[in-house]
Amino acid sequence: MSSNASCIFCKIIKGEIPSLKLIETKLSYSFLDIQPTAEGHILVIPKYHGAKLHNIPDEHLSDILPVMKKLTRALKLDQNNTPDGEGYNILQNNGRIAHQVVDHVHFHLIPKRNDEEGLGVGWPAQPTDFEKLGKLHEQLKKELETAAENEKL
Ligand code: 5GP
Ligand code: ZN
Repeated sequence: MSSNASCIFCKIIKGEIPSLKLIETKLSYSFLDIQPTAEGHILVIPKYHGAKLHNIPDEHLSDILPVMKKLTRALKLDQNNTPDGEGYNILQNNGRIAHQVVDHVHFHLIPKRNDEEGLGVGWPAQPTDFEKLGKLHEQLKKELETAAENEKL
């Protein structure tokens, strides 16, 4: 397992720094955020040191969403199973410009019960431009085809 001696979240996994632990599996670890933006703000981290999502092996990533699901139930966020009422956001920041502070991948589970607490989303949507989208679509499909070919080699 990749670990970094100076990383605060690696230290939490090893128990060198205390944490309010919730679920721990072979591949991931979850605990309460010490500066919550809403009550029940939880972090889920892979037991593998890597700064950004693409640095983390698939098996660790696959372990995380089922852990998240259990935590939503523990927080009773599943009880009002309608589009209205309380909700939650799953947030995972990569890089300073994207608001990442701790360089060990972490997924935030942030309850959204009202306008005052939790995540506020600013989303500067551009007008629909099908020509631009079409070009991007072609470019990305080529990238994905090349990646799939390379994986077969
Ligand atoms: P980021 O902005 O990198 O996505 O979020 C980092 C999160 O880690 C913040 O919400 C911050 O409160 C939390 N955090 C930073 N240091 C610690 C710590 O030592 N213990 C816990 N439990 N949370 C931490
Ligand atoms: Zn780490």
